[in-house]
Amino acid sequence: MPLTILFVDSRSSELDVERAVTGPDAVLLNPRKLRFDEIDRSAWESCDGVITARVPIDAAVVPHLKRARIVVRNGVGFDIVDLKACGEAGIAVCNVPDYGTTDVADMAIAMMLTFARGTAAYEAALRADLKSGWTHVHNVTARRLRGACFGVIGLGRIGTAAALRARAFGMDVAFYDPYLPNGAELSFGFARTATLPELLARADVVTIHTPLTDETHSMINDTAVAAMKPGAYLINTARGPVCNTAALLAGLKSGRLAAVGLDVLPKEPATLDDPIVAAWHANEPWIRGRVLLAPHSGFYSPDAFADLRRKAIETAYDYLRDGKLANCVNAEYLRRR
Ligand code: NAD
Repeated sequence: MPLTILFVDSRSSELDVERAVTGPDAVLLNPRKLRFDEIDRSAWESCDGVITARVPIDAAVVPHLKRARIVVRNGVGFDIVDLKACGEAGIAVCNVPDYGTTDVADMAIAMMLTFARGTAAYEAALRADLKSGWTHVHNVTARRLRGACFGVIGLGRIGTAAALRARAFGMDVAFYDPYLPNGAELSFGFARTATLPELLARADVVTIHTPLTDETHSMINDTAVAAMKPGAYLINTARGPVCNTAALLAGLKSGRLAAVGLDVLPKEPATLDDPIVAAWHANEPWIRGRVLLAPHSGFYSPDAFADLRRKAIETAYDYLRDGKLANCVNAEYLRRR
């Protein structure tokens, strides 16, 4: 019997990327709806696997998954899926954690380069006034990267990709990641610090690549900013709540921080309630050119979206056809069953 996969809310009407993975035999259901009850019950009941981007697979949906053995969340976060209810029903839940790895690393490097070389500041100054903009003084965050220290907090997939890029610019890489095994620094050839304050004290550029956990929540607060090397850049492309934005703003005001690049904010989308967003928006001379904001788009590129689709169907199909489980996020509930 062919395997049936339900693509709940796919953006693609063709499912060409997915078909290339499964071959002609699989049945790919593609209702392209945004709510459970807009999709025929028979689709839910007959499918072997579900791929969802936005439609929750909660405890009310799970009883309708009579045959399904896997739910793949088409993205990194999986809070729209009830892990326990799925696990208790024998359904594995997986995510796709690696579709935008190099794109996010590039984003962190792009922010660093923007500050170091002043591309955004020069563009803004020239656009405002061609004559007075024709001078290097508008790049208030200029610095030579060669020989500077690139400090990575969290040397996982994205952190490593960013570090390798920084090394290509002639930077010395240091990192803080207490969860990597001893000797990780030797395989990479990067300097490792035993504590966060040690990293902050030596890095000219601090870039955050940790998950958001109880431990990393507000990791960059007033104390952390005070421990940073004067004139450092701080770049966060990980998760907004890792940084206290009031502390970042105070660091910019005092001059401890030269520049702050944020792809993520504690509250998204951005609002003027956030002190650093308000100050960036007011754009007074003291802060001009020293803050870059992006709309949590580090992951985004058309190639990343194609990878996301391919990896999601591979995850579902490898499991259904060959029993190979990757990126399972509800293993504890599956095991308990
Ligand atoms: P990963 O799991 O491969 O790496 C995370 C690293 O952080 C691991 O090596 C881990 O040991 C380390 N870590 C955990 N707790 C730490 C702590 N307290 N101090 C220091 N290091 C710690 O994850 P990844 O794929 O590299 O992704 C990193 C983060 O990037 C994700 O968690 C996500 O929040 C973020 N992200 C952002 C975007 C975006 O669009 N901006 C896209 C994807 C991921």
